[in-house]
Amino acid sequence: MTAKADLFDKCAKFVPTVLEHREAGVYPFFRMIESAQEPEVVMGGRTLVMVGSNNYLGLTNQPKVKEAAIAATRKYGSGCAGSRFMNGTLDIHTQLEESSTVGREAALVFTTGFQVNLGVISALVGKGDVVVIDKTDHASIVDGCRLSFGEVKRYRHGDMGDLERLLRENADRGTLVVVDGVFSMEGDIVDLPGVVELVRRHGARLMVDDAHGLGVLGLTGRGTAEHFGLTPDVDLMMGTYSKSLASVGGFVAGDSEVIEYVKHFARSLIFSASPTPASVASVSAALDVIDEEPERLTQLWRNTRKMLEGFKQLGFDTGPSETPIVPVLIGDDEKAYAFVMMLQQAGVFANVAVPPAVPPGMSLIRTSYMATHTDEQLDRVLGAFEKVGRELGVI
Ligand code: PMP
Repeated sequence: MTAKADLFDKCAKFVPTVLEHREAGVYPFFRMIESAQEPEVVMGGRTLVMVGSNNYLGLTNQPKVKEAAIAATRKYGSGCAGSRFMNGTLDIHTQLEESSTVGREAALVFTTGFQVNLGVISALVGKGDVVVIDKTDHASIVDGCRLSFGEVKRYRHGDMGDLERLLRENADRGTLVVVDGVFSMEGDIVDLPGVVELVRRHGARLMVDDAHGLGVLGLTGRGTAEHFGLTPDVDLMMGTYSKSLASVGGFVAGDSEVIEYVKHFARSLIFSASPTPASVASVSAALDVIDEEPERLTQLWRNTRKMLEGFKQLGFDTGPSETPIVPVLIGDDEKAYAFVMMLQQAGVFANVAVPPAVPPGMSLIRTSYMATHTDEQLDRVLGAFEKVGRELGVI
């Protein structure tokens, strides 16, 4: 009789590597922050410049946004104790849906952005259908595809020829194409005109994940579709409230009929508790501040340009980025771990991305910017990168 495998063996194999990295002081995950997500944060009593946050418009600690969360907690309490489907829909959820339509007929609010992708893709892509995704789409899109009963096809990142081949091969099937508006690691923008043209020509449907486009792209920050003037051509737009919108939660917007269908079939909506009153109210307040203070968007782009140029002048490779997500390519995993921890020593909090988040040999330091960073803070970041980059032989 062969010995029965122990399910936990994998943990015993994996964990020593984590402990080794922690012991050596090169473990850059789950770092503890003792302050708000501001341009500067406190860690272990030290102040660091934060360039690892998705708080693009600098609203997570804005007084009106925080006051709205406090007022909603006073009125509605701390939680809804149920799903949107049953007892968990408040008037403020419905009001937020009305202001989340981003130019479409209707919207539906979920508890997280991740759950939007899980719920929408698995509800719409059924047996016999096909879902086509870019190879570097976000993990939540990949997992939404895994939960669907349809067939999943991936095309090479940004390769319109490869996308066309897949659409041609699946011409007779119900097809959903899902792309990131802004790719979350490299910071490049999808070729939306190219995707829209192919989707239309082949009779497919298009969903754009605009987690990093919303609040960032377009004249009024309404995202990638607004940036390209293609709002009516995107069938479904999903967004998250956890980045520019300073809270947590997510939404999908599209034609009323499709939204109504998703409302009754998205399991991550129906079987999960609705977002808290504080989360919902802070998003609505953040939307008001964005409209009242358009200069935040201007300042975000000023900071983005400064950093893209600054890194290039120092000799770093920032890949295809054209947004406030600015990656700095390192290559080797261990060097990337060392780089990010040396940055921390030098007073900068940045994130590291290693495979499978990026292709093998393409490990990078992911930096991202806020409208509220000052020139002085950004110069400190460039100074720290220059110092560490020279010490590690990256530049
Ligand atoms: N899509 C993309 C492209 C993302 O980057 C993220 C968050 N990292 C999500 C979806 C999930 O959003 P949330 O954090 O609101 O669950």
